[in-house]
Amino acid sequence: MENVIIGIDLGGTRLRIGAVSSDHQMADPFVTETAIVANAEDTVRKLCELIEEYQANGYAGRVDAISIGVPSSVECDKETVICTTNIRNQAGEVVFLHTNLARQIREYFQVPVFVNNDVNNILLYDIAANHLEEKKIVVGIYIGTGVGSAVVIDGKPLEGRNGAQLDLGHIPYFGGDVSCSCGKRGCCECYASGWRLQQIREEFYPDTDIKDMFTRHREEAPIKEFIHACAHVYAVMATIFNPDTMIVGGGVPEMADFPREAFERAVNESTGRDVMAYGFDYLYSKEYVGKGVIGAAVFAQMRLETMRK
Ligand SMILES: [Zn+2]
Repeated sequence: MENVIIGIDLGGTRLRIGAVSSDHQMADPFVTETAIVANAEDTVRKLCELIEEYQANGYAGRVDAISIGVPSSVECDKETVICTTNIRNQAGEVVFLHTNLARQIREYFQVPVFVNNDVNNILLYDIAANHLEEKKIVVGIYIGTGVGSAVVIDGKPLEGRNGAQLDLGHIPYFGGDVSCSCGKRGCCECYASGWRLQQIREEFYPDTDIKDMFTRHREEAPIKEFIHACAHVYAVMATIFNPDTMIVGGGVPEMADFPREAFERAVNESTGRDVMAYGFDYLYSKEYVGKGVIGAAVFAQMRLETMRK
């Protein structure tokens, strides 16, 4: 049996565990509620037990590494989770706050363990799935409930001094005064996010199902304005990075009838002229539940290769 990497996508709501082969095929994943881990007395031990259970029931092959994606920034050691605002226990407390998540799992399984931001992993998946490994700069912006972003330069994910880079949901929109969940005002997430789309639905289209918002209302002012707000985020990043490829993903652009043409026109119009003299490709991330798990494995592969050098 071929060696595998155990990829884990520890999301705000769901936890997915899957064995991934070296050619990025995922065995049947185990899926459960994140709350099972969040509310456990010893959260990391609970996670170890679930991994063990998955191995026992599903995949018996040799494990090269375990790799976990989390909805948080991760320190440059790729072990320490900075703050999982979206994963809280029953008492409402943040579950991982400057927590070394890798150490205990490594000691338990005696294999290398890596932790990475989930959006970063999803970008690595999109790059692998679309064969963009040779590109100089790929920018991924994922608009879901919030806004996530990652950038890969010459094959390497961009990393700040502490690992807290690209907190794109909280870049300020000039003049914006809507209160953000982070405590600031006028963050882009207040204007360009699934959260905002829900608000628009409640205010203007209470009879429309969220999934039909673009199908039914894409030609109307509130949605046009929303698309412009989303385009603005992409234009800022395109202007900064002069990318080969701009990956557009997340729950919002993956919805039915997302107006791609109007969106791209708005991005192109707002992007700096020097960048637009060269242009860039748009690539739409496809909805697929295995992205986070396989992306985590791709990340581990990269790290294992660097360790071997
Ligand atoms: Zn904010």
